[in-house]
Amino acid sequence: MNHPSAEPPEGRFDLTIVGAGAAGLWAALCAAEAGGSVCLVSRKPLAESASFHAQGGLAAALEPSDSPEIHAADTIAAGRRLCRKQAVDVLTTEAPGIVRDLIERGVDFDREPDGELSLALEGGHTRRRIIHSGGSRTGRELTGALARMVAGQEGIEVLEETSATALWSDGDSCHGLVTDRGTIASRATLLASGGAAALWRRTSNPWGAIGAGPVMAGAAGAELADLEFCQFHPTCVSAPGTRVDGALVTEAVRGEGATLLDDSGRRFTDELAPRDEVTAAILARIDQQDGREIRLDLGAVPRDKFPSVFAMLESAGFDPRKEPVPVSPGAHYMMGGIAVDLDGRTSLAGLYAAGECACTGIHGANRLASNSLTECFVFGRRAALAGLEEKRSAPVAIPDWRFEPPTVETREAVWKLAGPVRTGSELRRLTEDPYPLAAAIGKSALAREESRGGHRRTDYRETSAALDHHHLIVLPDGTIESRRWE
Ligand SMILES: Cc1cc2nc3c(=O)[nH]c(=O)nc-3n(C[C@H](O)[C@H](O)[C@H](O)COP(=O)(O)OP(=O)(O)OC[C@H]3O[C@@H](n4cnc5c(N)ncnc54)[C@H](O)[C@@H]3O)c2cc1C
Repeated sequence: MNHPSAEPPEGRFDLTIVGAGAAGLWAALCAAEAGGSVCLVSRKPLAESASFHAQGGLAAALEPSDSPEIHAADTIAAGRRLCRKQAVDVLTTEAPGIVRDLIERGVDFDREPDGELSLALEGGHTRRRIIHSGGSRTGRELTGALARMVAGQEGIEVLEETSATALWSDGDSCHGLVTDRGTIASRATLLASGGAAALWRRTSNPWGAIGAGPVMAGAAGAELADLEFCQFHPTCVSAPGTRVDGALVTEAVRGEGATLLDDSGRRFTDELAPRDEVTAAILARIDQQDGREIRLDLGAVPRDKFPSVFAMLESAGFDPRKEPVPVSPGAHYMMGGIAVDLDGRTSLAGLYAAGECACTGIHGANRLASNSLTECFVFGRRAALAGLEEKRSAPVAIPDWRFEPPTVETREAVWKLAGPVRTGSELRRLTEDPYPLAAAIGKSALAREESRGGHRRTDYRETSAALDHHHLIVLPDGTIESRRWE
């Protein structure tokens, strides 16, 4: 990354961004190219972002038989009557243009021998529409390319190894950021701080995905939404006590012929169904076979298409070409987050959010695979440009509140009490957790008295039609309100 300063600049920026994943890097570029002065704050180097770890790719309707409308229909079907249609339309309509833009900037997506883009199939997609780079190294390639573009862009001040610890807010509007190295005044502040799936002990995410953005936004006076919806990825490696336990095996391998086998070596589900269905089928089968694992047979999958997945498995002593690999679901993606409109605007004036920390309502109750990287680009750009329109505001007092990370006990409690299968009495216990986001997840999941998408309750097994399109909003005082989003 470029020119890290020893001290955060005290001068005002047009836009201060928290997070150097796909959403933050892209938003920084878009804002700087539009003439804004940008400060990009990142707690960790690139390797700590979820974006760096992305394996599958980005979804966009690119082949002749596909269209934004078909992509939208697939997204809405996966989202279980909870997607915000307007946001889905923005995503699927703008996605192909984003891909063209990235290609023009020199991002090297994988191609077929005839030179056409190589398009992969993933669960829930009815067309081949996932573009990737370096096989399953998409995140690494993309974030590397974006970081180089940011480094070459005048007007972006990068502060690495700097943690945002609070928003500079008086509860009515946001005036910038408080970090562990000082305060940064800014016309607009954009949270692109990533998801919260690492709040669950069993997770595919890097440890930093603890929802710092929603916690800071909530404390500053912004509304959160859909916190009861976490996506559990069906195929995380099950190797307790080892380094690879929880590591993701991308579902793109299932698109290339990998199958799920039960204890007796039989297939038991459609491997390419949406993630909530595959997860539910795996959990039911594990239950039926007294807790014994499910295995993923990669024997038919070409190693050269997924070199990093095979290398990860081999490094842990598996030989995936000879023997199926034990897998089980782990927390993977947070559908909920900071409630935003179609331009990333939160309910707190001057504060924006984009990427996994935000909740646009695109994903509904269950994200369609590979829509999230696309979301980072589409909504990162919209939020950056909207942020540049903010007026300067008079400074207010710096708040006393500071972010505190969750404890190991919280992560254990979130996994145990709000895991892939939940029940009211356990969720009630989570509402007492000292980590504000864990308690808010507990309250939201308790308030949603039904099962839908990633949220499955043993005491409310059915989906309630009355709750279609109803989103649970966590207000700054912690109360929950139900709102209909179209
Ligand atoms: C293993 C894995 C594979 C995946 N594969 C795919 C895929 O193939 N396709 C797809 O669409 N999605 C995939 N996803 C999901 C996708 O990667 C994420 O949703 C997306 O990358 C999120 O990007 P982001 O920019 O919002 O956040 P991130 O990439 O997580 O970046 C967040 C940034 O914020 C910083 N940060 C956090 N808190 C603070 C703070 N307090 N102060 C300063 N900085 C802070 C972090 O250090 C980081 O730089 C995958 C996720 C995982 C974990």
